[in-house]
Amino acid sequence: MFAERLTRLGTETAFAVSQEAAALKAKGKVIFPFHLGDINIRTPDNIIAAAHKALLDGKTGYCSNAGIVELRDALAFDINATHGTRYSADNIAIQPGGKPVIGKFIMTLMNPGDEVLYPNPGYPIYESMIEFHGGVGLPYSYREVDGQYRLDVESLEKSITPRTRLLIYNDLHNPSGAESTPEEMQQIAEIVRKYNLYVLCDEAYFDMRYEGKSRSLVSLPDMVERCVILYTFSKRFAMTGWRLGAAIGPKSIIDWIAKLNLNDESCTAHFIQHAAIEGLTGDQAGVRQIVQTLKARRDTAVDRLNSIPGIKCLKPQATFYLFPNATEAMAIKGISDYEKFRRDVLHTTGVSFCTRLHFGRALPGENQRYLRFAYSGIDMAMIEEGLGRFKAYMES
Ligand code: PLP
Repeated sequence: MFAERLTRLGTETAFAVSQEAAALKAKGKVIFPFHLGDINIRTPDNIIAAAHKALLDGKTGYCSNAGIVELRDALAFDINATHGTRYSADNIAIQPGGKPVIGKFIMTLMNPGDEVLYPNPGYPIYESMIEFHGGVGLPYSYREVDGQYRLDVESLEKSITPRTRLLIYNDLHNPSGAESTPEEMQQIAEIVRKYNLYVLCDEAYFDMRYEGKSRSLVSLPDMVERCVILYTFSKRFAMTGWRLGAAIGPKSIIDWIAKLNLNDESCTAHFIQHAAIEGLTGDQAGVRQIVQTLKARRDTAVDRLNSIPGIKCLKPQATFYLFPNATEAMAIKGISDYEKFRRDVLHTTGVSFCTRLHFGRALPGENQRYLRFAYSGIDMAMIEEGLGRFKAYMES
């Protein structure tokens, strides 16, 4: 009865962790939600007011498949300022979220049997969409080098074959918070040129940073013609549930993506696009407050995690994720199975997190164990109490 392709459709297993945590909560257990990358901070008031006004002004009908031109102009201006590019409205197709860009990029540029490089650990929708559309995923990995997570460029290049067409590159990386150095980004650009690849630059966390400055692959020579940026309003403006994002790239690719919009959702919600213009061009006080709130949470969470026996946590300058190494902690508890450890901590302490396995199958030879903590959906007091309980569990 069901189509064969559905057997290749993946999922976000982090949602299963949410459900498990919710079921425990319903039974009265206090849960410390570090598992899901949602944001429990309100969208800035000026954006909410702009959405309200747009509704009252009648922005309730269909609009252009690629998105309203005023928003595309504002987004092009915003991106050009940080990326050193010269995009215009023609280079942008607005989407109901950043996530749809993944499938649409693949549908536009990948034929069945083509190979696509993607990060593992990484956002699970990459692998799901590659396989669903009949492609072959080539996972590449990250390593801990000198107290930083580094993309394993060497093994990435080694896995390339004549059938490899696309690279998915998530700089400011979920789940690890890893970020390419300028040298690493240069190496990636060289590989893209050498093997004639097209790239999905997933920049969902480009603006979620606490120190330093984000860099984009598109700012390197020849890359603007080869890259499609996944842009999202979800994180920067705390708008996850509004569903608003964009594909940004060469006009020839964007025109096809806009045609996919036409066939799929027709257009992204009209009034929400007007609200997003206020986000990009209006008062930025609310946006700054989001980053400050997250930075304080990061600092506390990293300190507390590092005080827990057997846990070693790096301090990423961006994203809202931590990816502590828990190899020793699991050894102390005598538990080698990820799920067993996660459940034991959850049921004993109420602390709910994901593990490396929620971001892809473990790769051959992988012997370190990692957990993923998101601090975007949990307040400071709960971070302190939860990680205190985790510590007590490890010391018991
Ligand atoms: N890309 C990455 C790496 C993400 O972590 C997420 C969401 O968590 C997305 C894309 C998609 O987010 P959204 O669809 O809310 O824009």
